[in-house]
Amino acid sequence: MLAVALLAAACSGSSGEAAEPVPTTSVPASAGVAGDTTTSTTTTISTSTTSPLAPPLPLELDETGVPLNGQTHGVVTTEAGWVLPVLGAVPNGWRVWTPCAREADISEGRYIESVDVVLDPGHGGPTEPGATSPNGIIEAELNLQIAQRTADALEFAGYSVLLTRGSDVRLPIVTRGEIAQALAPKAFISIHLNAGTRAGSSTPGTEMYHQIDQPESRRLSGLLYEETVAVLADYDISWVALIDAGAMPRPNKDGEDYYGVLRRPGPVTSALAEIAYVSNRPEAELMSTPAAQAAVATALATAFDRFVTSDDPGSGFTEDPMFRGFGPSGAGRTDNCLDPQLN
Ligand SMILES: [Zn+2]
Repeated sequence: MLAVALLAAACSGSSGEAAEPVPTTSVPASAGVAGDTTTSTTTTISTSTTSPLAPPLPLELDETGVPLNGQTHGVVTTEAGWVLPVLGAVPNGWRVWTPCAREADISEGRYIESVDVVLDPGHGGPTEPGATSPNGIIEAELNLQIAQRTADALEFAGYSVLLTRGSDVRLPIVTRGEIAQALAPKAFISIHLNAGTRAGSSTPGTEMYHQIDQPESRRLSGLLYEETVAVLADYDISWVALIDAGAMPRPNKDGEDYYGVLRRPGPVTSALAEIAYVSNRPEAELMSTPAAQAAVATALATAFDRFVTSDDPGSGFTEDPMFRGFGPSGAGRTDNCLDPQLN
């Protein structure tokens, strides 16, 4: 039973390296930008209308045809809500890294050089819903709701924030990682809900993954864990958990980070939050409530604030994590990805 639980422990999609053959062309209904509606901020998104950027270099690809991360500087956000890493300036606009990780030239949008935090609502779009609850609650939708509430909380605290997606759209992992590198935030936090185990627990099974051998990523994950578990533990429901739930790394076969959202941001301090188990109906129903979402959002925002304003070490570290598998998770690649209309 334990082996079964372990193999299925991670919510699908975070590793970003498995086949995902079905295309989608849907366009965001709302903007991914989360930083320009509040008046309470003391820091602002750094923008400019005249791009300081050099002409673009050719896009460098790896042996599988996927672009190497780390080739862009800043992003352009479009009216439709796409967040596009910028390869360079072209006459009358920018050459950008598209959602499907290709090149395109666009002439309209807002250039953003950097933000304090990039939040990444996991999964999205009709073909990549992530995990689901027994009664049909969809992980990708909850991830987005929690991320939007977290952005609100961070902005209220004075931080500039951008979401990798602001609506229910497909966004490959490589592009999420590039958005992080393009904006060089103080932290990149990917927000997910877990699936797999049915082992009952008196405490939440929250898992926070950090980048291997990165002390600041580890500290961020410990603070995220500490704050999140503190608010979830107030809810008296039937939790599920793996016995080693906590803040931890997860290596792949090569000893690198298993999760693409931790590997592809490269030098950007990153964490992957598996807040609770959407596969467990009581937790899925709890995380669907505005009150619990707001509590988690406040916890994540508080953890980030402590990360940048203190040397607090965080807590809940799992020193010797169980093996959680090397297998692909089934989503997040660029295969058969169809870019939206960008101009
Ligand atoms: Zn997920």
